[in-house]
Amino acid sequence: MKRVFSGIQPSGNLTIGNYLGAMKNFVHLQHEADCLFCVVDLHAITVPQSPEALRQNSRNLAALYIAAGIDPEKATVFIQSHVTAHAELGWLLQCIAYYGELGRMTQFKDKSAQKDVVTAGLFTYPALMAADILLYQTNLVPVGEDQKQHLELTRDIAERFNHRFGDTFAIPDPYIPQVGGRIMSLENPAKKMSKSDESAGAYISMLDEPDVIRKKISRAVTDSDREVRYDLENKPAISNLMTIFGLFTEMSMDEVTQHFAGKGYGPFKKELAEAVVEGLAPVQKRYHELVASDEVDQVLRLGAQKAASMCESTLVAVKDKLGFLPQ
Ligand code: ATP
Ligand code: MG
Repeated sequence: MKRVFSGIQPSGNLTIGNYLGAMKNFVHLQHEADCLFCVVDLHAITVPQSPEALRQNSRNLAALYIAAGIDPEKATVFIQSHVTAHAELGWLLQCIAYYGELGRMTQFKDKSAQKDVVTAGLFTYPALMAADILLYQTNLVPVGEDQKQHLELTRDIAERFNHRFGDTFAIPDPYIPQVGGRIMSLENPAKKMSKSDESAGAYISMLDEPDVIRKKISRAVTDSDREVRYDLENKPAISNLMTIFGLFTEMSMDEVTQHFAGKGYGPFKKELAEAVVEGLAPVQKRYHELVASDEVDQVLRLGAQKAASMCESTLVAVKDKLGFLPQ
């Protein structure tokens, strides 16, 4: 059976970009692979977080995993900092990764641009991400398109280690959806939708109230002319909205185009808002039940134990190969 690992940062409220780009695939993969889904809090602190918000967001994200359809009986759901092997292998792989290759990562360039203070952790983030994945002998990593470059670096690090010290890590493949791998901001179709965007109008949170969703979609930027037509180059904003509509209604782009032929932007945005509201309603309902119960805490306790036992032998092997003296 294939091993699947992926993580999401508890750095804010999850957006429909996280949902369509990553989480939907988690739900679908749990039926055919041995899956681990992680709340990557160690990654979240690469940029400043309020401690209280981080604690809340971590638990809430675990609840959202389950609310979206991840079955804790099938998949292992856990918090990254509960399994210390992540931080430990993260350090070891920082000593395998090169400064030059980390400096080429576009996420680092984007997130450090125009910032007065940039942590060293933001720079070495991809080495920790490689550790998350490689600890579990992962074969497949479901992520959005923005993580493709980090996945390539993970593969390079794994191959470098295997080459220098002998076969240790499985080489993972990315698993990126053909449609929905890069959902764009509602305010700027040249920028990806992100949960840490300073402007809440740029994204739809999976937990936004129906009226908030309607308002955000009605304010979303559009392109010139009034035609609902898929054309990434000339109509990037409308194409992004059409993609979201297609994913929530399970319609192909041809069907979406036909459906809105001659209708204009107003009716399109109205129908889109209702499709998103309806699609998120069951997830939101289940989420509110879960956060009020102690089910999540139990899942996380068990998940951490399971994950720790699954990665122990890999960490022991790595330390032995590096030449560390056994205790
Ligand atoms: P942040 O701004 O804090 O980095 P984020 O929205 O980018 O938040 P992450 O936790 O970094 O979220 O990423 C979680 C998963 O969601 C990753 O697999 C990532 O590739 C995917 N993802 C993030 N943004 C999008 C997007 N706009 N479209 C599709 N997938 C996305
Ligand atoms: Mg991100």
